[in-house]
Amino acid sequence: MRGRTVWVGTSWKMTKTLGEARAWVDTVVTGLTASARAAAPAGVQPFVLPAHTALASVRDLLGPASPLLLGAQNAHQGPEGAGTGEVSMRMVADAGAELVELGHSERRASFGETDATVALKVRAALDAGLRPLVCVGEPGPVRDAGEEIGFVAAQVAAALAPVRPEERGRVLLAYEPVWAIGEHGRRPETAEVAPVLAEVARLGGGGSDGERPLVLYGGSVDQGNAAALLEDPSTDGLFVGRAAWEPEGFLGLLAIA
Ligand code: PEP
Repeated sequence: MRGRTVWVGTSWKMTKTLGEARAWVDTVVTGLTASARAAAPAGVQPFVLPAHTALASVRDLLGPASPLLLGAQNAHQGPEGAGTGEVSMRMVADAGAELVELGHSERRASFGETDATVALKVRAALDAGLRPLVCVGEPGPVRDAGEEIGFVAAQVAAALAPVRPEERGRVLLAYEPVWAIGEHGRRPETAEVAPVLAEVARLGGGGSDGERPLVLYGGSVDQGNAAALLEDPSTDGLFVGRAAWEPEGFLGLLAIA
């Protein structure tokens, strides 16, 4: 995968007040500048997905020449209007998002998001000019049963169904095995995730003019395993939770990439 741009991003999930968001951005931008990189390291595309409440503030803090792409962690698939408590694709784009994360396992498990919902959101995101970052990944029992490839393949197929061939290059697919995610997650061996990443990459093919989704890995990534995970030939980058919530952690991961 060397020679291609490596994507390294974090979702802050349900963390960070506006003050905490400002402190993170200040430290990351200062860190990039201090390392004589007004932008991110060459060949690295960093991104950050704040909570909706912090999106516009982070956009303003980063400014127009930001080295970081900005994204939302979710948005609704429907038109604006009767959707109390929800935020539309157009609204997150207006607040500064260029990416939108869809189908994270926490949303699938706790908020009723199905493959069908995710497909609707993918279409709505593309129509709003956003790049969908779709999370796929098998729960532990599916892995234990040895059925992870088929499970993830079905999620990828559903996510790509509404994507036109010429749009495939706008999609990011994050393989995040549920058993590896979060504080109760188990750090994966690279050999455990490599076959699934290869299948996700294979399924992403078939776009026009070679357009294909980027493939990221997420789940218990940290500075100890990032380099090994990035060696995977199917992987375009890393999607990180906890290990990047402290700005120094994020800078450390960018340096490794
Ligand atoms: C996630 O929840 O998407 C994630 C990658 O979390 P963590 O890195 O904390 O396991």
